[in-house]
Amino acid sequence: MPFSSLSQELEARAAQGLLRRRRVLESAQGVHIRVDGKHYLSFCSNDYLGLANHPQLIAGLQQGAAQYGVGAGASHLVSGHFAAHHELEQALAAFVNKPAALIFSGGYLANLGVVQGLVGRGDTVFADKLNHASLNDAMLLSRAGVKRYRHNDVAQLAQQLEQTRSGRKLVITDAVFSMDGDLAPLPQLLALCEQHDAWLLVDDAHGFGVLGAQGRGSLSHFGLASPRLIYMATLGKAAGVSGAFVAAEEVVINTLLQNARSYIYTTASPPALSVALLASLPLIREEGWRREHLLGLIAQLRAGLGDLPWKLLPSATPIQPLLVGGNEAALALSEGLRARGMWVPAIRPPTVPQGTARLRITLSAAHSKQDVSQLIGALHALAH
Ligand SMILES: *Cc1c(COP(=O)(O)O)cnc(C)c1O
Repeated sequence: MPFSSLSQELEARAAQGLLRRRRVLESAQGVHIRVDGKHYLSFCSNDYLGLANHPQLIAGLQQGAAQYGVGAGASHLVSGHFAAHHELEQALAAFVNKPAALIFSGGYLANLGVVQGLVGRGDTVFADKLNHASLNDAMLLSRAGVKRYRHNDVAQLAQQLEQTRSGRKLVITDAVFSMDGDLAPLPQLLALCEQHDAWLLVDDAHGFGVLGAQGRGSLSHFGLASPRLIYMATLGKAAGVSGAFVAAEEVVINTLLQNARSYIYTTASPPALSVALLASLPLIREEGWRREHLLGLIAQLRAGLGDLPWKLLPSATPIQPLLVGGNEAALALSEGLRARGMWVPAIRPPTVPQGTARLRITLSAAHSKQDVSQLIGALHALAH
């Protein structure tokens, strides 16, 4: 029976401390959540600006549903492309300073679509080894040749580009690495792309809304603009809703519209989500206090966790990973916090390399200084 081999695999996973499981939220997303009947202070969501439960976004969603109903009913290229989608694309393109944008139902789908839509057999994708799983899957799906370079190793990437003589070249990278919180050296990567006539696809899932002037993201943070840059960001993290978009030159967006299978062969997202996102954008842009407060919390956490037995990885973003090492030890620490009413996820292989299991602490503008002090206190207590 094929079932017995499945059970064996699951048991083997459990024995290694690698079984993934879900917990059931009974409240809205936020820093104070109820899970399985208990209340927790949460440090695990990517709702960096605290917008996922904002009254203006809720009103946007309600108004969008009243106007457009619930389901889009068809894919974008059939009859599912609504005025709200269209308006959102234009607003997003303008916000990140690109000529055009295309929205996808999620970041995973956007990455699959961009890479598969732009490169194929005979082309080459160059990828950072710590890229998000969706970028890794995207390059395999594209059937292009693949070269992976060591994390942020610009010199190795230069060599690989040098050795590649034919076909289109696409360098892909997380802008803020999702499990480490550090930044890609985008100016250097872009310079190499200019030199070698390559595109640079930047996945800004964790920078959009958080970094740059008015939260315009990593390109703004570094002051970068180039037609070679293909910008992708997700809308379910700092933007507080769901979905993703790709912003680039018109010719790139028009190509994706023809080629990107994860755009073409799927039902459009509910237009009401676009209305909610149109309510989110002005808050991202105008409420700079959210980013300022977040920076204060990051500094507070880093100052408070300097002298623990676990190493806090260098990161200036709301993703603050505490490196534990072993899977069981990371789980035990996460459980210890849970017993104290705090929820911080343990991240284990294969999401991160073997031997680098960690707590992934994420901060939100919705946290208070006292919330962060509570976490610092609990980690010190658990260290003793
Ligand atoms: C979350 C994430 C994605 C996927 O985005 P979804 O909208 O959640 O599908 C892609 N890339 C990175 C770096 C991410 O962190």
